[in-house]
Amino acid sequence: MLSHRNTPYPTMLKNRPNAIIMGGSLGGLNAAFFLRDAGFAVTVLERSRTPLAGQGAGIVLNPYTVRYLLDIPALDIADISIRSQLLRYIDQSGQIVAERPSPLRFASYNSIYAGLQTLLGTQNYHLNQRVTGFDQRGDCVRVHTAQGLQMTCDLLVCADGIGSDARRWLLGNTTAQYAGYIAWRGLISAADVPADTFDLLQDSIVYHITPNGHLLTYPIPVVEDSLADRERYVNWLWYRNVAAGADFANIMTDQNGVQRALSVPSGAVRADAIAQLKADATTLPDILSELITQTDQPFIQAVFDYEIPQMAFGRICILGDAAFSARPHTAAGTAKAAEDARQLGLALHDCADIPTALKLWEAKQLSLGASLVERNRVAGTMLQNGTWPIGAPLAFGLYEQGDSQMT
Ligand SMILES: Cc1cc2nc3c(=O)[nH]c(=O)nc-3n(C[C@H](O)[C@H](O)[C@H](O)COP(=O)(O)OP(=O)(O)OC[C@H]3O[C@@H](n4cnc5c(N)ncnc54)[C@H](O)[C@@H]3O)c2cc1C
Repeated sequence: MLSHRNTPYPTMLKNRPNAIIMGGSLGGLNAAFFLRDAGFAVTVLERSRTPLAGQGAGIVLNPYTVRYLLDIPALDIADISIRSQLLRYIDQSGQIVAERPSPLRFASYNSIYAGLQTLLGTQNYHLNQRVTGFDQRGDCVRVHTAQGLQMTCDLLVCADGIGSDARRWLLGNTTAQYAGYIAWRGLISAADVPADTFDLLQDSIVYHITPNGHLLTYPIPVVEDSLADRERYVNWLWYRNVAAGADFANIMTDQNGVQRALSVPSGAVRADAIAQLKADATTLPDILSELITQTDQPFIQAVFDYEIPQMAFGRICILGDAAFSARPHTAAGTAKAAEDARQLGLALHDCADIPTALKLWEAKQLSLGASLVERNRVAGTMLQNGTWPIGAPLAFGLYEQGDSQMT
């Protein structure tokens, strides 16, 4: 049972250790499962009042992202994702100038989140619980939330994302560094895309490289829908350079005049910014211009780099984007969050002493995170300055290029 302010900090320790997980997105949910399998009682505290929706955006799957769900097996991958076989590059006239086999699967964030959250159930997953602080004393960590919850645990896992409060509390002011570009993103129903365009886009991931940015599209199913063609969507991302300072502040200012730090969600982007996007899109190949101009509510995610120097702090650890925020060009952010969680479960399974297990885990995950950030930095720089070789295989992969492939 959860307890509330003015009651003493309860301990949940009975026969087995307990873990609190701060943040209930894909990193936090995976941590819950892998720790449960390692013998922990788990409680996930998520600040959002409603189930997360990830703005309905698509993700390129990596086998590590869905490993828990597939191993159980709790789902058939074909039910939540669309497969494509080809990587295509198109030029300014919309012609395919390079094509190579590239077996990938695409899904919506929502379908992965919903699959994991449903499997965990609501008893261990608490929405509307924003962690406002924690402290570590002796053999336990005390955690409290803005909603008045107070708990103790044997292990606190911080999976609170790129803007991590936990990271600030543990390490001081450690903000992620803006990479100099943003992703404009949108989704458009296949029904609203001309048939010729959809034919070219549906069985492939399509890239268009410009001298100062790049654009990609891939198909996704929407979670509630069956996979009939009319219910497919095209997910597009246009990575555009925006100078740090006034230009960045302007694009990140929403329709209420509030400057957002990381993203401007669908429905909150200023009308004048969308109008400018659509005007600029007319310079793109027709096929891409059509997608963007016909998208109702495009949204913005800024791109950052962050590398944490330490992930284990006694009985507290930090994982996923909170620890390493890699640019998205290896399509492995969710896979890294899930793999941090899986490795944590393995380390704790093999070692009874929590601080020792966290230190062993940290050594491996620091190395994985640093290499992922660097691979993304290299790929992102080339994709944004026009030096990416047309026709080259994508940088997708967690441990190495190519491990995103799924048939
Ligand atoms: C443009 C773009 C494209 C991307 N494409 C892909 C892709 O194709 N494939 C892929 O694998 N990855 C992709 N990613 C990366 C992916 O979205 C992230 O790596 C992933 O979501 C990280 O998961 P996480 O659980 O660590 O953090 P998040 O998903 O950010 O979750 C953090 C959670 O913590 C909660 N939280 C924060 N503070 C508190 C608090 N104080 N108390 C309680 N809860 C709190 C938040 O509400 C949130 O739910 C992309 C990212 C971007 C920007």
